[in-house]
Amino acid sequence: MPLPGGPLTGGCFCGRITYKIAAPLKNARSCHCSRCRKAFSGAGSAYAEVVPDSLTWTTGADQLSRYETTPGWGLAFCGTCGSTLCGLHGNDVHGVTLGSIDGDPGVEIAQHIFVGSKAPWDHIGGTAPQFAEFPPSMQGT
Ligand SMILES: [Zn+2]
Ligand SMILES: [Zn+2]
Repeated sequence: MPLPGGPLTGGCFCGRITYKIAAPLKNARSCHCSRCRKAFSGAGSAYAEVVPDSLTWTTGADQLSRYETTPGWGLAFCGTCGSTLCGLHGNDVHGVTLGSIDGDPGVEIAQHIFVGSKAPWDHIGGTAPQFAEFPPSMQGT
Protein backbone atom coordinates (compact mmCIF):
# COMPACT_ATOMS: atom_id res chain seq x y z
CA MET A 1 0.00 0.00 0.00
CA PRO A 2 1.94 3.09 -1.17
CA LEU A 3 1.58 6.32 0.72
CA PRO A 4 -0.44 9.00 -1.12
CA GLY A 5 2.03 11.79 -0.28
CA GLY A 6 5.11 9.78 -1.24
CA PRO A 7 7.37 7.95 1.17
CA LEU A 8 7.95 9.15 4.71
CA THR A 9 11.49 10.29 5.33
CA GLY A 10 13.55 10.63 8.45
CA GLY A 11 17.02 10.61 9.87
CA CYS A 12 19.29 11.32 12.80
CA PHE A 13 20.29 14.61 14.41
CA CYS A 14 23.64 14.96 12.64
CA GLY A 15 22.16 14.00 9.27
CA ARG A 16 24.55 11.18 8.41
CA ILE A 17 21.81 8.55 8.49
CA THR A 18 18.57 8.97 6.56
CA TYR A 19 15.78 6.61 5.63
CA LYS A 20 12.50 6.42 3.78
CA ILE A 21 9.42 4.38 4.55
CA ALA A 22 7.11 3.25 1.76
CA ALA A 23 4.03 2.15 3.74
CA PRO A 24 1.91 3.71 6.49
CA LEU A 25 3.08 3.29 10.07
CA LYS A 26 0.98 1.39 12.59
CA ASN A 27 0.53 0.92 16.32
CA ALA A 28 2.04 4.23 17.40
CA ARG A 29 2.62 4.26 21.12
CA SER A 30 4.61 5.73 23.93
CA CYS A 31 6.10 3.53 26.62
CA HIS A 32 6.92 5.35 29.84
CA CYS A 33 8.91 2.57 31.54
CA SER A 34 12.33 3.25 33.04
CA ARG A 35 14.11 1.33 30.28
CA CYS A 36 12.46 3.31 27.50
CA ARG A 37 13.23 6.57 29.28
CA LYS A 38 16.90 5.67 29.10
CA ALA A 39 16.79 4.30 25.57
CA PHE A 40 14.93 7.30 24.17
CA SER A 41 16.44 9.93 26.52
CA GLY A 42 13.04 11.38 27.33
CA ALA A 43 9.69 10.84 29.02
CA GLY A 44 9.45 7.54 27.21
CA SER A 45 9.42 6.13 23.75
CA ALA A 46 7.55 7.61 20.80
CA TYR A 47 7.47 4.69 18.45
CA ALA A 48 5.47 3.14 15.64
CA GLU A 49 5.76 -0.18 13.89
CA VAL A 50 6.63 -0.40 10.19
CA VAL A 51 5.27 -2.79 7.62
CA PRO A 52 8.03 -5.41 7.15
CA ASP A 53 10.64 -4.35 4.58
CA SER A 54 9.03 -0.92 4.06
CA LEU A 55 11.97 1.00 5.54
CA THR A 56 15.02 1.64 3.34
CA TRP A 57 18.21 3.29 4.58
CA THR A 58 18.91 6.16 2.17
CA THR A 59 22.29 7.24 3.52
CA GLY A 60 24.64 6.18 6.28
CA ALA A 61 23.52 2.61 6.91
CA ASP A 62 27.14 1.78 7.70
CA GLN A 63 27.03 4.36 10.53
CA LEU A 64 24.32 2.50 12.44
CA SER A 65 25.18 1.10 15.83
CA ARG A 66 23.05 -1.65 17.29
CA TYR A 67 22.24 -2.54 20.85
CA GLU A 68 20.40 -5.68 21.87
CA THR A 69 17.93 -4.76 24.61
CA THR A 70 16.45 -8.21 25.20
CA PRO A 71 17.31 -11.42 23.36
CA GLY A 72 16.20 -11.01 19.74
CA TRP A 73 15.17 -7.37 20.18
CA GLY A 74 17.23 -4.25 19.92
CA LEU A 75 17.60 -0.64 18.92
CA ALA A 76 19.71 1.01 16.24
CA PHE A 77 21.09 4.48 16.62
CA CYS A 78 23.52 6.83 14.91
CA GLY A 79 27.08 6.01 15.90
CA THR A 80 28.00 9.69 15.71
CA CYS A 81 25.15 11.73 17.19
CA GLY A 82 23.36 8.98 19.10
CA SER A 83 19.81 9.52 17.79
CA THR A 84 17.77 6.39 18.33
CA LEU A 85 16.28 5.58 14.94
CA CYS A 86 14.58 2.23 14.96
CA GLY A 87 13.71 -0.91 16.82
CA LEU A 88 15.02 -4.24 15.59
CA HIS A 89 13.63 -7.74 15.78
CA GLY A 90 16.48 -9.98 14.79
CA ASN A 91 18.00 -8.27 11.76
CA ASP A 92 14.70 -6.74 10.65
CA VAL A 93 13.51 -3.21 11.31
CA HIS A 94 10.46 -3.55 13.56
CA GLY A 95 9.56 0.12 14.00
CA VAL A 96 10.81 3.68 13.98
CA THR A 97 11.14 6.46 16.51
CA LEU A 98 8.55 9.10 15.71
CA GLY A 99 11.00 11.85 16.67
CA SER A 100 13.37 10.87 13.86
CA ILE A 101 10.73 11.30 11.16
CA ASP A 102 10.69 14.49 9.08
CA GLY A 103 7.35 16.26 9.36
CA ASP A 104 4.06 14.49 10.00
CA PRO A 105 4.44 10.72 10.37
CA GLY A 106 0.74 10.25 9.59
CA VAL A 107 0.01 8.64 12.94
CA GLU A 108 -0.48 9.89 16.48
CA ILE A 109 0.35 8.21 19.76
CA ALA A 110 -2.57 5.83 20.19
CA GLN A 111 -1.71 4.49 23.61
CA HIS A 112 0.51 5.22 26.58
CA ILE A 113 1.87 2.09 28.20
CA PHE A 114 3.70 1.41 31.46
CA VAL A 115 2.24 4.63 32.82
CA GLY A 116 2.39 2.97 36.24
CA SER A 117 6.14 3.53 36.26
CA LYS A 118 6.35 6.89 34.52
CA ALA A 119 8.79 9.53 35.71
CA PRO A 120 7.53 11.88 38.46
CA TRP A 121 8.11 14.85 36.14
CA ASP A 122 6.19 13.31 33.23
CA HIS A 123 2.82 14.95 32.52
CA ILE A 124 1.07 12.98 29.81
CA GLY A 125 -1.19 15.05 27.58
CA GLY A 126 -3.79 14.18 25.01
CA THR A 127 -6.68 11.76 25.08
CA ALA A 128 -5.00 8.49 24.11
CA PRO A 129 -5.74 5.65 26.53
CA GLN A 130 -3.24 4.97 29.28
CA PHE A 131 -2.32 1.57 30.64
CA ALA A 132 -0.43 0.83 33.84
CA GLU A 133 1.59 -1.86 32.05
CA PHE A 134 0.99 -3.65 28.74
CA PRO A 135 -2.44 -3.00 27.20
CA PRO A 136 -4.69 -6.04 26.70
CA SER A 137 -3.80 -6.07 22.98
CA MET A 138 -0.12 -6.61 23.78
CA GLN A 139 -0.39 -9.16 26.61
CA GLY A 140 2.22 -11.80 26.27
CA THR A 141 4.27 -10.01 23.63
ZN1 LIG B 1 23.68 11.12 13.43
ZN1 LIG C 1 9.22 0.70 27.86
